Amino acid sequence: MRIYHLLARPFPGSFPAKIMALACTGVLLPTLAASVWFLQSGQRAEATNLMAIGLGSACVMVFGLRAALKPIGMILEAAESWMAQKPVEPLPDGYGDEVGQIMRRINQMVAEASRQRASQRRQADTDPLTGLLNRRGFSRMMRGTEAGALLLLDLDHFKAVNDCYGHQVGDRVLCHVADTASDMLRKKDLLARWGGEEFVIFLPGAPATLAGTIANRLREAIAIDQPEVGPEVTIFVGVAGHAGGEAFDHAFVAADRALYRAKAEGRNLVRHDEPARAA
Ligand code: GH3
Ligand code: MG
Ligand code: MG
Repeated sequence: MRIYHLLARPFPGSFPAKIMALACTGVLLPTLAASVWFLQSGQRAEATNLMAIGLGSACVMVFGLRAALKPIGMILEAAESWMAQKPVEPLPDGYGDEVGQIMRRINQMVAEASRQRASQRRQADTDPLTGLLNRRGFSRMMRGTEAGALLLLDLDHFKAVNDCYGHQVGDRVLCHVADTASDMLRKKDLLARWGGEEFVIFLPGAPATLAGTIANRLREAIAIDQPEVGPEVTIFVGVAGHAGGEAFDHAFVAADRALYRAKAEGRNLVRHDEPARAA
């Protein structure tokens, strides 16, 4: 490492510069010494030819080394993309030498770490009981969505299910509602467990009337298709429009208002948010 340490002084920020400086010195120094010797012995033409050969070789070497050292830059780029959590293109790893080995190892490490990162993200975005998206996952998926309808679902008297039949039955009821809802929705719809016995659905592109129809179908399906064990399960639903874009807080508050009305007006009901009318 001593020579490397010495080279780090004039070329602190570039590994290729160190290698090129070393190689050029190796070619130019003997050529220069021989040229001086020719000059001193009066052989001016030989001295000039030798210097020209030396400079030509140095140029060829600089270009050759630049190409040969390119993988160093590619490895650095891959590492920096990885650190910045950007997608990393696989490095060309078909070479049988040390560079090929390093690239293969890096590709393997990146692939493995990407798998782990994706699995951690999936776990962090998933509700472990129902397997649906959780609040975090839903909020992430809602970023920049198109306009549509937001539905909030709440189970009627769910606490009584736990109190009368135990938490295990309560859990099964939650999974049953989750399965019934996911069976009824389109692939592009989003369904999540917002928390406790509350679920949220986003129907991209759905106008209010369609959202109301789907909410009612869902409410009826849950009322008809009861779980094998436990009490009768019904839901109440609040529906509101979402204008699309980043934040859906506004739509959420509106859907929550509608949910409250559905509960207050008798439960096992669907209610739309009604904008306050001017008197
Ligand atoms: P309402 O009809 O007014 O909505 O009342 P509710 O009983 O459905 O709702 P409340 O908010 O009073 O109670 C919700 C209950 O849900 C209380 C909590 O113990 C239960 N709960 C929350 N998460 C889980 C869970 O993962 N599993 C089970 N079994 N119960 C849960
Ligand atoms: Mg609730
Ligand atoms: Mg409830």
